[in-house]
Amino acid sequence: MSNLFYQGRGRKRVLDQARGVYMWDKNGRRYLDGSSGAMVCNIGHSNENVLAAMQRQMEKSTFGYRLHFETEASERLAARLAGKMPGGLNRVFFVSGGSEAVETAIKLARQHALAIGEGSRWKIISRAPSYHGCTLGALATTGYAPLTEPFEPLMRVMPKIPAPRAYLDGLDPADPETGRHYADMLAARIEAEGADSVLGFIVEPVGGASTGALVPPEGYLERVRAICDDYGVLMIMDEVMTGAGRTGAFLGGDHWGVRPDIVVMSKGIGSGYAPLGAMIADDRLVGPVLDAGGFAHGFTYAGNPLACAAGLAVLEEIDRQDLCGNAAVMGDRLLARLHGLMQRHEIIGDVRGKGLLTAFEFMADRVTGAPLPRALNAYQRFVDIAYDRGLIVYSRRTRDGIDGDHVLVCPPLILNESHIDEIIDGLDGSLTEFA
Ligand code: PLP
Repeated sequence: MSNLFYQGRGRKRVLDQARGVYMWDKNGRRYLDGSSGAMVCNIGHSNENVLAAMQRQMEKSTFGYRLHFETEASERLAARLAGKMPGGLNRVFFVSGGSEAVETAIKLARQHALAIGEGSRWKIISRAPSYHGCTLGALATTGYAPLTEPFEPLMRVMPKIPAPRAYLDGLDPADPETGRHYADMLAARIEAEGADSVLGFIVEPVGGASTGALVPPEGYLERVRAICDDYGVLMIMDEVMTGAGRTGAFLGGDHWGVRPDIVVMSKGIGSGYAPLGAMIADDRLVGPVLDAGGFAHGFTYAGNPLACAAGLAVLEEIDRQDLCGNAAVMGDRLLARLHGLMQRHEIIGDVRGKGLLTAFEFMADRVTGAPLPRALNAYQRFVDIAYDRGLIVYSRRTRDGIDGDHVLVCPPLILNESHIDEIIDGLDGSLTEFA
């Protein structure tokens, strides 16, 4: 077998076809893609308009090196993306994935600090748990010990503050005091590090794989923005998972009207049709970097015309089908049905989410919040049970890599009511079998 790093947990699964929300393996078994892969295929599989746009691009050109050519596809995609950003964020830099987008944001922030004479700033504060990517720079900001510890000698681990997990800390997420409590941890950390050493704060508007659809408490992101302003720290919004309509708005941050300095995106903008990511920065950051000699960064595949043509067609589909709106409506319905499952299944301790980024967390005891014993490997076992029932979901450990398991339910944004019925039936049966 040449694919030496296949990590399908001991089961060999060979994908044959995928259409809409469904996928078929080589044995002809059908699965509902209840996690859009890894929260990627926002517009669903094999969309004909995207395939046709890619075909047209392939017939024109498949590669032009970014230092030699812009392409119509990359220019149009950049303009369309910039048009969806909060005002001022209009400088787009294309990459091929989320980790590359995070690296790009970190390096732009650093070069900007140097260009404006603030070279003492280099630390990027982030949260724990969090996931920002697997390359060494992005990993240094990731707050998840099992992924980071083996590589610590190779990188400079960045400072972390706790993610605002009000449900575990016995706090009310609807109380503005809760949002203030967690956001003020950022101010305290900036002070402790020395404000003039801090370059940025990277945050997911709604937590993804590491926290399981963690919605921030009332006022949290707004206060984080104000704290960043007070200390001259750049706010980097990691929209790799939340962007492109996933939470029911184009950007997750749009729900709170917070304007970051840099946005990073990937997953949903390529929707799995091509590897695509983007960093979108405030005009004000880019000017000084270009004036100081240019951005010392770039990947060979950046702005690949085929990937950009796919991304442009994906954005057209998101708008044409109003997938942000559908994600908001279907997300509310899915969340209500997950709460229904929680009433029937004692093992579910918490249900949360925004739009079609939803999750439930297993607990041994809802009152104390105690997780299931680690040895149960609940997060892996549950996914396997659901898979055997024809439902694909995504799961991870929640509690800093020590204990706790959550399951993300994040289907494509083209979801309808009957798909929700199917997902809930699959989860219900799987939970009964699991308990
Ligand atoms: N940032 C977030 C929030 C993510 O969820 C991910 C991937 O899951 C990444 C960054 C890294 O993206 P990629 O796997 O495309 O490098």
